This record gives sequence, structure tokens and C-alpha cells, in this order.
Amino acid sequence: MDTADVAIAGGGIIGLATALELTAAGQKVTVFDRAEAMSEASRAAAGMLAEADPENPPQLRELARLSLSLYPEFLARVEQLSGAGIPIRTTTTLQGLRHLPPGASALSRTEIEKLAPGVNTRGWTFCLLEERSFDAWDLAEALPKAVRAAGVDLREHTPVLGARGTRHGAELATASGPFSAGAFLNATGAWATALDDALPVAPRKGHMLTAELPGLRQTQCVLRTPNVYIVPRGGNRYTVGPTLEDAGFDKKIHPECIQELFRKATHLWPTLNEGRIAESWVGLRPGSLDGLPIIDTAEEHCWVATGHFKNGILLGPGTARVLSQWMTGAQPQIDLSSFRCSRFSPPESPAPEAPGPQ
Ligand SMILES: Cc1cc2nc3c(=O)[nH]c(=O)nc-3n(C[C@H](O)[C@H](O)[C@H](O)COP(=O)(O)OP(=O)(O)OC[C@H]3O[C@@H](n4cnc5c(N)ncnc54)[C@H](O)[C@@H]3O)c2cc1C
Repeated sequence: MDTADVAIAGGGIIGLATALELTAAGQKVTVFDRAEAMSEASRAAAGMLAEADPENPPQLRELARLSLSLYPEFLARVEQLSGAGIPIRTTTTLQGLRHLPPGASALSRTEIEKLAPGVNTRGWTFCLLEERSFDAWDLAEALPKAVRAAGVDLREHTPVLGARGTRHGAELATASGPFSAGAFLNATGAWATALDDALPVAPRKGHMLTAELPGLRQTQCVLRTPNVYIVPRGGNRYTVGPTLEDAGFDKKIHPECIQELFRKATHLWPTLNEGRIAESWVGLRPGSLDGLPIIDTAEEHCWVATGHFKNGILLGPGTARVLSQWMTGAQPQIDLSSFRCSRFSPPESPAPEAPGPQ
């Protein structure tokens, strides 16, 4: 039978970044994807490393910081292995909020105008965040090449149909036959419940578009409010997003959603009215019940990493590092208790007291 030290279902950023880490730790890794690697949420993303987003839940902080600290090394390795570039496109974000959190300082109208000429500030107070972004399509091109160059056996168009832990490892049923491995990781994103129906994860649909301006324009920074974001992609292209919808696994693009998104973006930055919608797409974020990732061991020799929701690009390298540590018998370097499945179980009710004498 076909074997590996570790078998991974799912070739998105979580599965592939973990495969790279495990390979660096000396493991022989096979990744199965039911379609093409990096063709789902990880390709649909805006590519913001939004560690400083005030809307992030506090439980994400430690994992987000770890991941961010690993990013330069991660991108350099992917570039070196793949030979493809993943340029950082922006290094600051102009964040608009109704009320700034304590400690954040509001920018003046003149400061905002200098950073993003023409932005409509009405209704928002803006602060400046040091935050990077890259084009998720660049990573989607490079990462599968990089994992192959690192020696990972990446099998596309090969769904994993089932997996179970055994005393000595894991047995998989795949579309191309049975497969056995020392360990198994379910990194199938929004589809994770197909392999483990106990996981409280569901697809959260997002529409996105690329707007193209007629000439080179001027905002070098991401413009973001809780309603919409505009992410410069180099040249005259801007990624605009997102919607957040519960539509099951429906991946249809609804033109009215794209128009509404464009309307919100032009309200924030009227300059975009001079442009046109060049592309549109949708992606399915893996969303857990509480919006936090699920990083856990499901049964013996079996792990799961899903539920990265709006921040899976940011959290990819950090998730890969802690999973690789855990799966190779080391202690994960950060506390993962906020991401364990046990948080969804109701607390055990106290044992009934023994009846006293009547
Ligand atoms: C519109 C949008 C914008 C976003 N913007 C950002 C952003 O700016 N910054 C950020 O940090 N995050 C962002 N995200 C979130 C981020 O994209 C996701 O959290 C992340 O990509 C999840 O990665 P993943 O590997 O878990 O899932 P995916 O990338 O969806 O990968 C899962 C893979 O599993 C495969 N698969 C499914 N079932 C099987 C099976 N049975 N067998 C084998 N393979 C299977 C699929 O084909 C897929 O390739 C955004 C997401 C969306 C949708």
C-alpha cells in the first residue's frame, strides 16, 4: 500500500504550509487535494496580514503574532523553492472605525488626504496600522510549486473519502485507493465536516472583485472600514471585498452582490468611480461556531486544522509551525487551548449528590 509519514487532506495554505514545515522536520509528506491546490479560500483571499485589525478576537493574538514573525522566512522559502515572486504590495492600512480603541491615535484630515487622496472620511475616524499585504494569487501560484520542490508528494484531483486512526497510524480511503500514514491531518477548510461530521465548521461565502482605474493612481495603503476594504495590487488594480454570507457551498457569483460591493468601495473612495470592475470571484471561508480556528487532535494519530475564517492567510505559517511541532511529538510553542474542540462541549454537569438520609 502507498504510505507516508504524514498524509494531509487539503492543499490550501493550511495544508501546504504544514507540509513544508513537516518536510523541513524530516517527515515524508503526501498532500491530497480533491481539486487543484490553492484553488479555494486561499486563492480567494485579499492577502492582508491583518494582525492589527481591531475587530480580531483577542484569542487570536498569540497565534497571529507568531505567524507574522514567521512570514518573512516563509515567503523567502516559498520564493526560493518555487522560483516565483510574492512581492509585499502594501505596508500600511488606513483603518476607519466608528470609535477608535483606547491607545489608537486619530489621523487628521490632512494626514489622511496625504496617504489616500480623495478618501471619503464621513462617518469614520481613521488610524494608521502597520500591516502588510501581498496578492493571494501570487502565493497560490508559488506555494504548490514550492512544496513539490521541497519533496512533498502533492496529489491533485484526488479527494480523501475517509480517514481513521489506528493503533499505529492512520488509514485513508482516497479516490485513487487506500493509503496508510503515520499521522493524518484534516486541512480541508470549509469542507472539513465531510471527513469528520462532529466538527462545528461551515462555509462563509465572500464575494470579491478587482477594480481597474484608467491610469496609475495614488493610494499605496489598504483602505479598510468594517463595511469594505480596498487593497492596492500594484499598477492600477485594486482588490475590493468582501461580503459575508451563509449560503452553504454555493459558489455562484451574484452580480447584485458585486455591484453592491463596488458601490460601498466607491462611497469610501470615490476615485474608483472612474474605474471598471475587471474581475469578480467568490470564496468559502471555513468558519467555526465561535469564529476561531480549530487546531486539535481528533483521535489517535489524527489532527485537524480548520476554521481559520477571515484570517487563514495571516495564520497559515503559525498554524503550520505549531502543528508540525505537535505532530512530531514536541510541545507546541504557544498555548492552543482556545483552539481545541473541547471548547464546544457543554461543561460537564456536576455529579448528582448522593441522597442523604430521609
Ligand atoms: C473572500 C475572502 C477574503 C479573505 N481575505 C483574507 C485576508 O485578506 N487575509 C487572511 O488572512 N485571510 C483571508 N481570508 C481567509 C483565508 O482565505 C482562509 O481562512 C484560508 O484560506 C483557509 O485556508 P484552508 O487551507 O483552511 O482552506 P482552503 O484554502 O479552502 O483549502 C482547503 C482545500 O481542501 C481541499 N479539499 C476539500 N475537501 C477535500 C477532500 N475531501 N480531500 C482532499 N482535499 C479536499 C479543497 O479543494 C481546498 O483546496 C479570506 C477568505 C475569503 C473567502
